Amino acid sequence: MTALRVFASIALLAAGSFGLYELVESPRSDAFQPVVTHGTGPVVALTFDDGPTRGVTDRVLDVLEREHVHATFFVVGRAARREPALLRRMAADGDEIENHSDTHPHLNVLLSPALDAEIVNTDDAIHAATGRGTSWLRPPFGARNAAVLDAARRHGKRVVLWTAMLDETSPHASPDALANRLLRQVQYGAIIVLHDGDQGRSQAGGRAYEAGLTAQVISALRARGYRFASLAELDRIARPAR
Ligand SMILES: [Zn+2]
Repeated sequence: MTALRVFASIALLAAGSFGLYELVESPRSDAFQPVVTHGTGPVVALTFDDGPTRGVTDRVLDVLEREHVHATFFVVGRAARREPALLRRMAADGDEIENHSDTHPHLNVLLSPALDAEIVNTDDAIHAATGRGTSWLRPPFGARNAAVLDAARRHGKRVVLWTAMLDETSPHASPDALANRLLRQVQYGAIIVLHDGDQGRSQAGGRAYEAGLTAQVISALRARGYRFASLAELDRIARPAR
């Protein structure tokens, strides 16, 4: 079993083909249920991955506060340890803080102790800063296999991906073009991802522009009749109490 897992990890590392991506990492893949990718109704969840980053996340929080939008931040543990004050501000503002791993690896290639540490260390960083626990895991790159889903379940997390993500393959496209491409992916119950960091590094680097689109994305969605919900609210709407 262990040998098989090691082999599977190596095969995953080596292959990297689109087919494999579609199966294992694409939000469209339903190979590994249950994974939440959307809700329902004229409502969307705005989520931010890979931060917090000083100078970037602060600006996002300013916009969210001004627009009275509550978002969900999938923070990276190593960044959370560096910027606890930003986490405290998220909590004070009414935003949700969730788990995006500790060092932003492909979780698919990790074996159990390392996989657990990625989840637990991030929870510990969030708890140390805010006193809060987390309910959701968003695996970096959307990478999830049976071991990842099992680890999430053991740690009491649900796995959530996304519906709409900024096109990162055209870095020279104008902000307007990028925002429009993002908005074309949005439908009822969409879970939108923007990045307020770069894999938990101290600088957002080439991704800083994404956070700068926050206000534009909010106003464009409002103009189309959408309202904003946190992930927990979106989930309640999508799964009415029985
Ligand atoms: Zn990420």
